[in-house]
Amino acid sequence: MKNNQRVVIKLGTTLLTGGSNQLDLDILSSLVKQIVGLHKKGYQIIIVSSGAVAAGRHSLNNWITTNESSNNVRSRQIMASIGQGILMHHFQELFGANQIPVAQALLTHNDISDRISYLNIRNLLLDLIMLRVIPIVNENDVVAIEELEGETIGDNDTLSALVSNMIDADLLILLGDLEGLYSEDPHLNPKAKLIDFVENIEDIEARIGDSWTNQGRGGMVTKINAARLATSSGTNVVIANGLIPDNLHRIISGNKIGTQFKTRITNLESRKRWLLSRESSNCSIHVDSGAAKAITQKGGSLLPSGIITISGQFTKGEIIKIIDNKNNKIAIGMVNYTNIEIEEIITARSKPNEHPVEKIMSNEVVHRDNMVITGGSANANQ
Ligand code: GLU
Repeated sequence: MKNNQRVVIKLGTTLLTGGSNQLDLDILSSLVKQIVGLHKKGYQIIIVSSGAVAAGRHSLNNWITTNESSNNVRSRQIMASIGQGILMHHFQELFGANQIPVAQALLTHNDISDRISYLNIRNLLLDLIMLRVIPIVNENDVVAIEELEGETIGDNDTLSALVSNMIDADLLILLGDLEGLYSEDPHLNPKAKLIDFVENIEDIEARIGDSWTNQGRGGMVTKINAARLATSSGTNVVIANGLIPDNLHRIISGNKIGTQFKTRITNLESRKRWLLSRESSNCSIHVDSGAAKAITQKGGSLLPSGIITISGQFTKGEIIKIIDNKNNKIAIGMVNYTNIEIEEIITARSKPNEHPVEKIMSNEVVHRDNMVITGGSANANQ
C-alpha cells in the first residue's frame, strides 16, 4: 500500500479497555506513542475513538451496571456525556506531552447527511490536519438518539468509514483486540483462520461461519460494512490488532498485517463520482477567461474576482456548474456561498466605495478540492 499519507485510525472500546470495565491507560499511551511517531513523520492522522461510554460507566463506579439495562438510550447518553470529557482529557495529556494539539469532533448521522454541515465538517477536519492538529472524532452519543430512526450512525466502524470518505483518506485502520477477520470465532475455535486479504467483499460474509456469538458476529459485520463503504470511495482498509506494539508503523509501511481490503478506485475518482451525482440542474456561475484558465489549466480554485454572473438559487454546499465566457461548462463544484452572497459580491465589486469588498471576497467560492473539471483544456491536476 503506497501513499498512505492521510490515515484514519479507529480505536474500539474493547481495545481501549483491554477487555476490562475502564479505559486502560497503558494501552492508550502505547497507541498514542505510535501515532505520535507517525505524526512526526508527516502523516496526516485522524482518530475515531470509542471509549466514552466505558469511561463514563466506570466513573459512575459502575452504578449503571454493565448488564443489559446499561445499554438503553438514557443510560448510554449519561455515560457518554460523562465519559467523553474523560476520554479527551487522556488524549490531550498524552498528545500534549508531545506538543501535539488535539481537537474534538462529535458527529451525528444528520451532520454527515446534511449537505451544508457535511461541507463544514469536511473543511474543519481538513483545516485541522493542515494545522498538524489531530482531530479525535466520536459519535455524538448525547444527541444521537437511536429511537429517532435514521439518526444514529450506530457504531464507530461505520463512522470511521464515513469520515474516511469525507476527507478522502488513503487508509483506514480499524484497530481492535483481534488480529483481523477470522473465518470463525477464535475465542471458541483456536483453529479459526485469519483472513489476510479480502479480494471480494461480497464473498466474505459467507466465509464467516456460524460459530460466532451474536456480539462477535455483529462486530465483524460492522467492520465488513465499514470496509465496503471505505473501499468503494477510494480508501484502503486494514483490520488489525491494536495491542501489538508497532503494528501501526508496520501496517503503514506496507507489511501484511491483519486483514487487508484494497480499494479499486482512487479518491479522486470517488470524489468525482460523488460530485457528479449531486450536480444541481439549473444553478451556475459564469466566469471570465482568466478564471476559466486558472481552473482548467492551472489547478486553481474559483475566486470571487473571476465571477461575471450567476443563475439559479442555491445554498452553500450545493453542487453548481461553472460556465466560461463562451458558454461552455468547464467544471462542477461545491459552492461555499449562497447565490445571494455571491450577488452581494458582484454588487460590491461594482461599487467599491460603498462596500467592504475585501471582506466578502477573501475566500474561494469553489475550492479546488471540491471541484471536477468537465470541459476546457483540462491539463491541470485532475
Ligand atoms: N460512541 C461509543 C463510545 O464512545 C462507541 C460506539 C462504538 O464503539 O461503536 O463509547
